[in-house]
Amino acid sequence: MKILSVNAGSSSLKFQLYEMPQEKILISGSMERIGVGNSFYTIKVNEEKIKKELELNNHEEAFETLVKELKANNVVDSLEDIKGIGHRVVQGGDYFDKSVVITDEVLSKIDELSSLAPLHNPAAITGIKAAKEVFKNAVQIAVFDTAFHQTMPKENYLYALPYSWYTNYKVRRYGAHGTSHKFVSQRMNEILGRNNTRLIICHIGNGASVSAVLNGKCINTSMGLTPNAGLIMGTRCGDIDASIIPYVMEKTGMNTREIDNALNKESGLLAISKKSSDSRDIEEGIASGDENCILAQKMYVRRIVDYVAKYYVEMGGCDAICFTAGIGENSMDTRRDIINELGVLGIKLDDSKNNVRGEERLISTEDSKVQCWIIPTNEELMIAKDTYELI
Ligand code: AMP
Repeated sequence: MKILSVNAGSSSLKFQLYEMPQEKILISGSMERIGVGNSFYTIKVNEEKIKKELELNNHEEAFETLVKELKANNVVDSLEDIKGIGHRVVQGGDYFDKSVVITDEVLSKIDELSSLAPLHNPAAITGIKAAKEVFKNAVQIAVFDTAFHQTMPKENYLYALPYSWYTNYKVRRYGAHGTSHKFVSQRMNEILGRNNTRLIICHIGNGASVSAVLNGKCINTSMGLTPNAGLIMGTRCGDIDASIIPYVMEKTGMNTREIDNALNKESGLLAISKKSSDSRDIEEGIASGDENCILAQKMYVRRIVDYVAKYYVEMGGCDAICFTAGIGENSMDTRRDIINELGVLGIKLDDSKNNVRGEERLISTEDSKVQCWIIPTNEELMIAKDTYELI
């Protein structure tokens, strides 16, 4: 069965077409600058990459172009071959604890939650509506980034704020990257051969979050109401003293939009290293003795270790720590720094096993008290799997 996995941004559309349940990728690609002029798309099919420039005025045109390419490349004979389309939706609030078939009611809930994800949910709606127009007979599924975290107990998702903020304005921890945390924890349990496990998943990329997964269910996660909580990220500050915000606003006269921009786009690794938000540049800086980069990395690692330690205690121990996403999969130095700091828990890195990028692998020693693994994430496949299962 052919399943299309879709991630729609306000001016972009990323997609992968899978043959399920074989999990075989038939075609993948992305369409950029939709509706803003000079649009183009890239497609990877049969190991070949194609790039074309074509004016795409809206997401419907993007899907129509995709269909033409699917036919031209003999990936499908007709539109009817595609039985399901899975859409990535960033914010599902507390309405959705799993992926669902998209009905009018689901669409209006996604719309209602737009104030919690103003950049992402409206874009997803645009993608869903366009896909419904073009693929009239396919089942449309919404896969929420927040759904996997809905199993958190109340003591972990509530903030100690005026209760009416929660009841009136839905202020609570929702978490993010749930599709990735779910994929990685499921894969880890598959490898361990059981579901009664205590896992700590470190999804560390440009955005970053840690989650505690007990017996296959998320019980805590570092991201909060928004994706700017928890870890230090490329340009996001993560956890801070909330009173810093009114203090700096009064001192500088910054408005809410400006302060939000500073916390999300001018903070994190970028602010401390004074150089870059990219961990490759930080590593280069460290190698040349750059003090700011050394400090940025120390702070970055410390925050991750804090969360790992916290979740270790919360779960009464841990069976495996998993590293995933851009930095988790590729940065040997960051993995080494984190695991070495966890030495007090009897966790030990095998340096030679750690010497790898982007490969599923055990990287701890045999006598390590907790196994450490690299598990490359695959959110697109998770979306396709959920879609296939629902159909
Ligand atoms: P993501 O958001 O998951 O795509 O991760 C992107 C981040 O991964 C980049 O900003 C880099 O900081 C990091 N990254 C990618 N490749 C490497 C690498 N070879 N070494 C260190 N960091 C890397």
